[in-house]
Amino acid sequence: MKTTRLLCLLVILLLPVWTAQAVEQFNGLDRPDLPEVTLTEGDWGLQIVFFNVGQADALLLLTPDGEACLIDSGSDWQRGNWNDGKGAKAADQIADFLSSVEDNGVGALDHITLVYTTHYHADHMLGLDNLVTGQHALTIGTAYDQGAIRSTSPSYTRYAKAVAGSSTVARYGDKERLGKGGEVTIRCVAVAGDTEGTEYDSPLDPAREKHKNAGSIALLVTLGEFEFYTAGDQDRQRERDVVDSGAIPGGNDIDLLKVSHHGSTTATDPGFVEQIRPEVAVVSSTWHRKDRLPKQVALGTLQTHRCHVLITGDGTDEKTGEYTPGLSEDDLPVAISEKAVHNRQGQIRILVSADGTRYTVRSFPGIGWGVPPGAGAEVEAFRKTFSAVDEDNARDEQ
Ligand SMILES: [Zn+2]
Repeated sequence: MKTTRLLCLLVILLLPVWTAQAVEQFNGLDRPDLPEVTLTEGDWGLQIVFFNVGQADALLLLTPDGEACLIDSGSDWQRGNWNDGKGAKAADQIADFLSSVEDNGVGALDHITLVYTTHYHADHMLGLDNLVTGQHALTIGTAYDQGAIRSTSPSYTRYAKAVAGSSTVARYGDKERLGKGGEVTIRCVAVAGDTEGTEYDSPLDPAREKHKNAGSIALLVTLGEFEFYTAGDQDRQRERDVVDSGAIPGGNDIDLLKVSHHGSTTATDPGFVEQIRPEVAVVSSTWHRKDRLPKQVALGTLQTHRCHVLITGDGTDEKTGEYTPGLSEDDLPVAISEKAVHNRQGQIRILVSADGTRYTVRSFPGIGWGVPPGAGAEVEAFRKTFSAVDEDNARDEQ
């Protein structure tokens, strides 16, 4: 989607206090400052849902005719241990969303058409066996990953069992379509460091700990001119490789980026961001002070390119439940702190119009929470959510 096109980002991207300084800083630049709400629940061709799973990844693509694609399945990292976590909380969120989509004109879903697991770390794969077994018992179609590896880790063992019979090795250039009419395309633009034009002496090994993040499966999701790039915990070198390969046809102006590696310093390469110039970026992380992800350097890079940033995390310590927002005005450059939306307790949803020319961003406090149509109502509801969450946290801490 080109910047000359009128975008319809929600005004929820702007926090209530919008200082003259920030307005001045952004005026004159080719980023939209005041998005408009024009999409309603009945007028979308693709929903992208980022679940709040702590410092982990789980996101879902959904088409109006009920086809779903899960990209990573999160973990139970909030229980304090990556590998011992059961992934149940992440799975509950995903399953709850799928069972509630009938509110959007889609029947409740018990099947996920496509699954991508970007790499074999617990925070990206541990929710899956909770989805396909037990109370949820969802079925899955094709499950793309990097092939079977020799590993006795509990998280991989559980994952491998969950995808038995569905697993397909992802290759560079693979293209899938989502939706009955195939409107949404999902293209694999990198896997295990393999992109067009890259020639490494030895490929990245999905079983080697030091290679896992870098070799994450990278996907370009498109609907018409709408473009979304998501690549697990991909590293900077591989980010540059992807843009150098020419795999992102939108060139220097894509719509949506999932920030790799939860906003760590290992990703969000400045050269990569400069070339794709995302309009909206979502960080999947806790935003808790102790964990310190996303890192300021990653946010600063996004700020340089005037990107609207949303963070899934709710600032809660996942071990103690203590609530301490990780980023304050002092931590961040002022402009990005006012552009960053801290999505307490909920999901971030991007609704893309059926023709891919418009999209809107919604931040939800929880499953099934309805927003009345109309910009004013939505903004008001969002602000109420912030104050309601504050009261809840105050109560929790007593
Ligand atoms: Zn991760």
